[in-house]
Amino acid sequence: MIVIMRKGVKQSDVKRVRDLIEDMGFSAHVSTGSKRTIIGIVGDVDNKNLSADPLATLLSEEQVETVYRVSKPYKLASKENRKDNTIIHVDGVEIGGDNFTVIAGPCSVENRKQIIETAKGVKQYGAKLLRGGAFKPRTSPYSFQGLGEEGLKLLKEAKEETGLPIVTEVMNPKDLDVVLKYADVLQIGARNIQNFSLLKLVGQTDKPVLLKRGMASTIQEFLMSAEYVMSEGNANVILCERGIRTFETATRNTLDISAVPVLKRETHLPIFIDPSHSGGKREYVPALSKAAIAAGADGLLIEVHYKPEIAVSDAIQQLNIEEFRELMVQMRALAGVLGKKI
Ligand code: PEP
Ligand code: MN
Repeated sequence: MIVIMRKGVKQSDVKRVRDLIEDMGFSAHVSTGSKRTIIGIVGDVDNKNLSADPLATLLSEEQVETVYRVSKPYKLASKENRKDNTIIHVDGVEIGGDNFTVIAGPCSVENRKQIIETAKGVKQYGAKLLRGGAFKPRTSPYSFQGLGEEGLKLLKEAKEETGLPIVTEVMNPKDLDVVLKYADVLQIGARNIQNFSLLKLVGQTDKPVLLKRGMASTIQEFLMSAEYVMSEGNANVILCERGIRTFETATRNTLDISAVPVLKRETHLPIFIDPSHSGGKREYVPALSKAAIAAGADGLLIEVHYKPEIAVSDAIQQLNIEEFRELMVQMRALAGVLGKKI
């Protein structure tokens, strides 16, 4: 249920309505837009055992203009709740709006030289944030699992060297505290998209969350996972389409480019594309990246390694620095045409 407050409403009235909602046993999420204040209500408003009808109670408030039921199961993520697109601020970097933000870096943090060289390279050609996994979700338990906290410390060194904020994955609730010490953005991987206890925990932090679509998630399920994070109070969620599993085996996953316009219609959250895990081969990365900006995405999460030939994970899909430079020249040209800032 969504409450639309009257134009120019006073903060004290917003507080009274919010208290009323909370007294009825629901949570209230206030969005103060440039024109309107909207309160999203989370909880079972149709519960027959409620002593008062929430709709009637709220409509009787002087400063409430209207109340409507949101037809979508995702209320906070829905555009029905918030018309203006969300802009997320990370250490001075703006994500969303007119910005097209490139997050680049290796699949895994491997050693100091690798992460520092890669960070300097991607920074030079326009990446605004550095990615790198320290806790890696690998299909085989015998594959490299990441350096853990040692990898996070190396990411911190790379940040000190380049100024790039850090995006890194948290896989397990037990590692959240340590990841929080180093990460600027918490990545939730495709395999954890429906790990609801992990989603709730990251929802209780003040760090933006980059949520990757599961390889078998529908768009609605993807948005419901964002809702889990948001319903805990963390509104800063970035959605990342990274390819879904289909019958096609020519690419690692099938990039669902149509997810971009569909998500743009449904949600105010920024939408990113991962051309690396979708295409699965470096030769496909430029085309998928250009498709992403043309389709209206807000940014890329892209794997770049200073020497992909010696990478310990995802070697065949990582760009080298020169390939990244060439791609960024093309991305800038497209951004100019499309009215986006890189
Ligand atoms: C990654 O981006 O490091 C990753 C493991 O991707 P995904 O979770 O999309 O497979
Ligand atoms: Mn990878």
